Amino acid sequence: MNSLLEHLRNFFKMPDLEEYRTILCIQPHPDDADIGMGATVAKLSEKGAKVFYLTVTDGSAGSTNERLIGETLSKIRKEEQEKAAEILGVHDLIWLDFEDLGDYQLKELRSMIAEHIVVLKPDIVFTVDPFLPYEIHPDHIKCGFAVAQASSFYKLPKISKFRTDHILHAIGFFNTANPNNFYQIERKHLEKKFLALSHHKSQFDEKTLQTLYFYLEERAKVGEDKLAESFKILPPVMLHVFPEAQDF
Ligand SMILES: [Zn+2]
Repeated sequence: MNSLLEHLRNFFKMPDLEEYRTILCIQPHPDDADIGMGATVAKLSEKGAKVFYLTVTDGSAGSTNERLIGETLSKIRKEEQEKAAEILGVHDLIWLDFEDLGDYQLKELRSMIAEHIVVLKPDIVFTVDPFLPYEIHPDHIKCGFAVAQASSFYKLPKISKFRTDHILHAIGFFNTANPNNFYQIERKHLEKKFLALSHHKSQFDEKTLQTLYFYLEERAKVGEDKLAESFKILPPVMLHVFPEAQDF
């Protein structure tokens, strides 16, 4: 291994995910964290971690049915997410209610996320990977970058109105093309994730759900009888001026 990279890995020493006690999962829409890391949420909650879900948008655009989109859909999706979160053992849900596919600004979102980091004091935040090649959804790109920036800058008065001594140790990206962490899960955690996903009825009909189960199960297979969810986990400081972040 490249010795500089080895040096950085020793210096930052990322602990095992199970050592984190407070976990903040920040998702663009209701269902993203369940899809990207639902089994991990189930396992870490079971082990006593306090997991929060912070949802950026109101989910109001997630349907082709014109009669459903808007407030009606938003209300349905919140109820779906609440049921799913209960299955996974999520401690609490927070909603920022930005308009789904709306033209809200990253700057405003970044400050709101930074303030939630100060208040909730997570050891690690998780979000969608905004560096995912071919990702085109604006809510995912904005959410990923806003969380990454908030993770680095939450102590700056320009970004957050709250002062804090809290240290956020890590940021984890799910749905990543460049994982550096394969968190092992058991079949029962995958089953819980699938049960949670089955509650997002406005998003998945039965046929889509079965296809999604198949896809997610294949993606979780990391070896002979081994299942895992994969993440790119970095110390937040590496999100600025470190070419080594790519291979860390
Ligand atoms: Zn989404």
